[in-house]
Amino acid sequence: MKRDKGILIVLSGPSGSGKSTVISALLKRRDDIRFSVSATTRPPRPGEVDGKDYYFIGRDAFERMVDEGAFLEHAEYVGNCYGTPAAPVDADLDAGYNVLLDIEVQGAAQVLAARPDAVSVFLCPPSLDELERRLRGRGTDAEEKIKSRLATARREYTVAGNYDYIIVNDDAETAAVELDAIITAGQCRRGMRLKFIQEGVM
Ligand code: ADP
Ligand code: 5GP
Repeated sequence: MKRDKGILIVLSGPSGSGKSTVISALLKRRDDIRFSVSATTRPPRPGEVDGKDYYFIGRDAFERMVDEGAFLEHAEYVGNCYGTPAAPVDADLDAGYNVLLDIEVQGAAQVLAARPDAVSVFLCPPSLDELERRLRGRGTDAEEKIKSRLATARREYTVAGNYDYIIVNDDAETAAVELDAIITAGQCRRGMRLKFIQEGVM
């Protein structure tokens, strides 16, 4: 069977909800996913690799990319700029890969307006208390940043109802299984499969 064009998956959720953890588990389960590497003006955290986790760039370079129209979407989040380079997303979709975007809610709204076929998933922790524990446990943010991320989480929850799916990340492996199932369901949507029944209705 000829490989279909891939589907675009938009994953959002508060910082610390476990998106990176769940994405790592998902990438171990499936080899048909390409993770979209964003550009950001945020400095790298210990262990983060340029070109793998993010493209870490300065404000000037970021603004140049905005001016050139190089981003599918971009937004500011807790004082830093983040953007999805458009070209690799389309190249990977055309090559038949499913493309996963880990982006915050303003950027997600831009993508969903431009690409109504995208599948949207909101990942949340079991509770906001647990989110605070995870942010502190990760040990990468100063107290002020943690407060800011928690306040931002509350705002993000107000638009979570616009997403196609909500996954509760209690156990990361279970959350990855659920995301895997959502992607499989996305590949089986009517719009992706109508071509196979066309010969019967002509
Ligand atoms: P995000 O990418 O959404 O900012 P991370 O994947 O960095 O979140 O996770 C934030 C912290 O929570 C990390 O220390 C991670 O190990 C931990 N974590 C992620 N998922 C779970 C889970 N299901 N249970 C407990 N801790 C988790
Ligand atoms: P972090 O700094 O914790 O890696 O990410 C902060 C937030 O930025 C997360 O909610 C993450 O989903 C979001 N993010 C990462 N890359 C992008 C991007 O390219 N565009 C947008 N709009 N948000 C992004």
